[in-house]
This record gives sequence, structure tokens and C-alpha cells, in this order.
Amino acid sequence: MRILIAEDDRIIADGLGRSLRQSGYAVDWVANGADADNALITGAYDLVILDLGLPKLSGFDVLRRLRSRKSIVPVLILTALDGTSDCVKGLDLGADDYMAKPFELPELEARVRALTRRSMGTAPVIECGALAFDQIHRCALLHGEMIDLSSRELGLLEILMTRAGRLVSKDQLVEHMCGWGEEVSHNAIEVYVHRLRKKIETSGVKIATVRGLGYCFEKSAQEVKS
Ligand code: CA
Repeated sequence: MRILIAEDDRIIADGLGRSLRQSGYAVDWVANGADADNALITGAYDLVILDLGLPKLSGFDVLRRLRSRKSIVPVLILTALDGTSDCVKGLDLGADDYMAKPFELPELEARVRALTRRSMGTAPVIECGALAFDQIHRCALLHGEMIDLSSRELGLLEILMTRAGRLVSKDQLVEHMCGWGEEVSHNAIEVYVHRLRKKIETSGVKIATVRGLGYCFEKSAQEVKS
């Protein structure tokens, strides 16, 4: 999952970015509205955390432009503590949720999880065979036991499981797994997939290679029939 943070307060952005990265999200940060608008035009994001009071282009304008491009990416707006009217305006412009500053990180992260889950249309716990991905606690379980995964492997598994049965290209994987300044090559993706396959090989599900195109997370034939 890749998240854009548009926030001109560096301390807030740093804290938020660090916390989200630790939870396995890829995070990009911009400090003004014009950069946010550009990033949203060129990048594929799963969620935007948007401060309303941004220099160059306000959060409202970023949101207005985003929705006028028919983008449905979930947007969580950050408002000032007494910003009730801002929050109403933001929601009416197409924001999906809001948080007033100062906020508690655990609450913000819970809202991020709820929004991405809702936008993917997935259950809080996605189950495939003996494998489960818990989107609330951000962990994977095999036969009910937590699997030890690196944050890259966790991110990869999340992308594949939330799109189970669909082809996911290596470019899409790179785009959703990496923030700016992070380099992940197609070869590295192959290595992560290889490691992940080994860790989930007893699950009854498989990560199929679609040659030249990418990967598809499939249940076994038996699972699909039932
Ligand atoms: Ca601000």
C-alpha cells in the first residue's frame, strides 16, 4: 500500500511517515499543495493524508482537482482543532474521513486501515486456504500461527491477497511497495516472491507466475471449487 502525505508541518509529517513505514506502508511526503497535485497526477496511491492548510495550493483545491479527475483514491483530511466547518467542506468536496490536529497516531493509523480496507472492498481478515492476512493488526497467519515476514514481504503479500485472483504486474508491485527514493528492481521483486512462496508453501494457495506479465495469487483448485 502506498500513501501520500501532504503536510507542511515537518514534525507531523516525519512522525506520521515513520510510523506508517514501520507498519509496512510505502510513504511519500510533499510539503505543499502544488507538489501534492503533481504527485497525485503522476503516482498510483492507495490513500492520501491531506492537510487542508497547505502553501501554494490549499488542501481544498488539491481535493477539488483530484475529484474532478474522477479519482476515487481515499482521502483522509487533517484539520485544525476547531475546524468543524473545514471538515464539513472537505467531506463535501469528496474527502472520506478527517482527523483534527493534534491527533493520536494509533487512531490515525486505525482510520488509514479502515479506509484502505473499505476502498479495496476486503474483509478485516482476508482468508485464503490456511493463510490469513489480518489487515487490522497487519500480520499474516498460516494455520493460525503468525508468520515471520519482513515489511517488504508483508507489503507484497498484502497487495497480492487484496487482489486475489487478479493479475498484478511487477510494475504495479513496485509502484505500491515503494516510496520515492526507494529502489526495488524487478529482480528484487522476484526474490521477495520466491521467499514468500517458501514461507506460505503449506497454505494450499499459490502465487502463480504469469510469464512476462506478473503474478496472480490463486487458491488451489480444491479451494476454488468449495
Ligand atoms: Ca498546514
